[in-house]
Amino acid sequence: MGRPAAALADMRWPEVDSGPRRVLVVPVGSLEQHGPHLPLDTDTRIAVAVARGACASVSGVALAPAIGIGASGEHRDFPGTLSIGTAALTGCLIELGRHSSLHWRAMLLVNGHGGNTEALRTVTARLGYEGRVCRIWHATLPGGDAHAGRLETSIMLALAPQAVLMSAAAAGCRLPIEELMPALRAGGVRAVSPNGVLGDPCGASAAEGRKLLTELTSGLRETLQRLLNNMTEGEPVPNGQTASPCSPGASR
Ligand SMILES: [Zn+2]
Repeated sequence: MGRPAAALADMRWPEVDSGPRRVLVVPVGSLEQHGPHLPLDTDTRIAVAVARGACASVSGVALAPAIGIGASGEHRDFPGTLSIGTAALTGCLIELGRHSSLHWRAMLLVNGHGGNTEALRTVTARLGYEGRVCRIWHATLPGGDAHAGRLETSIMLALAPQAVLMSAAAAGCRLPIEELMPALRAGGVRAVSPNGVLGDPCGASAAEGRKLLTELTSGLRETLQRLLNNMTEGEPVPNGQTASPCSPGASR
C-alpha cells in the first residue's frame, strides 16, 4: 500500500522540521470494557488502524500517538474501564490543538469511541473560535450494533485475531440504542447489559472486519484529502504567535 503513515513517535525533530507539516492526525480512543471477549483498548486499536491506513502515502501528514483513555463514564461499573471524563478530555485536546497549531496547519481527530463525541464537539468549536483548524472524523459503524457486537468483533478479528476470545463471546442487550438511552444514562451499561455487550458478536468474521476497515479507511481518507485540498499551497505554517491570549501556558 505504498509508503506507510509517518508515525510522529518514530521521527527525529529535524525530520519533522524539514518536511511539510500540513495535518497532524490524532487517534482518540478509550480504555473501556468491550464484553467478555474483546480487549479494553478495542476503540483505540480501531482508531489507530483506520488512521494509519488513511495517512499512508499522504505527504505532509503525521500520525500522533493515540489518546488511549477517553470519556467512558457509562462503562464505569466494569473493572478495567478507565475514564478521564468529558471535561478533562476536552481540556486535554484543546491544549493539544493549541500546541499542534504551532507547527501544523490543522489537526484531525480520529475518534473511535461514541462517548468522546461531546468533548470533541467542544474542542473543535473552541479551537475554531481561536482561529485554529481542527476537524473530527468518527469511526461510525452501521447501526444496530452499538458495543462489542458483530461489527466491532469482526474488525478486531481482522486486526488482531489473537486478542479476541471468541469462546467467551456472548450476546448482550439487543434493544435499539435509542430505546436504551434513558436507562443507560441513569444507570450505565452494566444496568442494562451484565456482560457489557450491546448487540451480538455471533457471526462475526475477519472477512467482514476487513470490509468494514476498508470502508472506514476510505471515508477518513476522503476527509483528510478534503482538508488538504482546502489548504492554500505555500501558506506559511503557523508559529508560536498564534497561541491564545486566554491561555498563557497553552503551548507548554
Ligand atoms: Zn468500542
